[in-house]
Amino acid sequence: MEHINIAIDGPSGVGKSTMAKSLAKRLGYTYIDTGAMFRTLAVYFIQNGIDKDDEAAVVAALPSCSVEIRYEDGQQHMILNGEDVTGLIRTEEVSEAASVTSQYVEVRKKLLDMQREMAKKQDVIMDGRDIGTVVLPDAKLKLFVTARPEVRAERRYKQLLESGKLGSETLESITKEMRERDHRDSHREHAPLIQAEDAVLLDNSDMTEAEAEDYVLSLLKERTGR
Ligand code: C5P
Repeated sequence: MEHINIAIDGPSGVGKSTMAKSLAKRLGYTYIDTGAMFRTLAVYFIQNGIDKDDEAAVVAALPSCSVEIRYEDGQQHMILNGEDVTGLIRTEEVSEAASVTSQYVEVRKKLLDMQREMAKKQDVIMDGRDIGTVVLPDAKLKLFVTARPEVRAERRYKQLLESGKLGSETLESITKEMRERDHRDSHREHAPLIQAEDAVLLDNSDMTEAEAEDYVLSLLKERTGR
């Protein structure tokens, strides 16, 4: 039987991963967070003193990085050269390095096959920036999730606070950096963040998580009968 793939794209802090995780659990699909893959490479660049703005240096380092995904109790773990780096990928420093280095075509290429292979083998909900446009153009359901910028910044701030990862950032600094990264994601040459023609637009600014999920489940039912 052909596997069902759901593609979820959108800017940062929009709640893609929360929604995708919860839907994956309800549907029995595998959730794949592709941002975590870019973040894992970023950890390597930071740990090895590779300047994120130096494309040639970043590309030269790629053969030295092996990225794997493992699932433990249904949770996605990121493995970098055999070491679990899951606990290291959510800092602002890594966010920034992932945002800059994901612009480089060789960096994207390195992860693309892996993303596609995973979707071939199982039912997946994959989230990122270019899933509906580049990675899984034939996905059964594509969503482009947005929310007002101030709503997204507040959500990210709360997330950092609640996970104990808030450093010196303020709501203002998070808003500013988020805008810069979104701009970079949307204006880059390779696989920019854009809504696929056949993607459904979902603005969840004024929706609860449950409302957004129910809406997606109803769309999926329409398309698959499941
Ligand atoms: O989604 P998340 O914020 O974890 O992603 C980290 C960075 O990786 C993003 O800022 C974006 O630049 C990049 N990314 C990407 N393509 C994807 C997923 C993430 O370029 N499919």
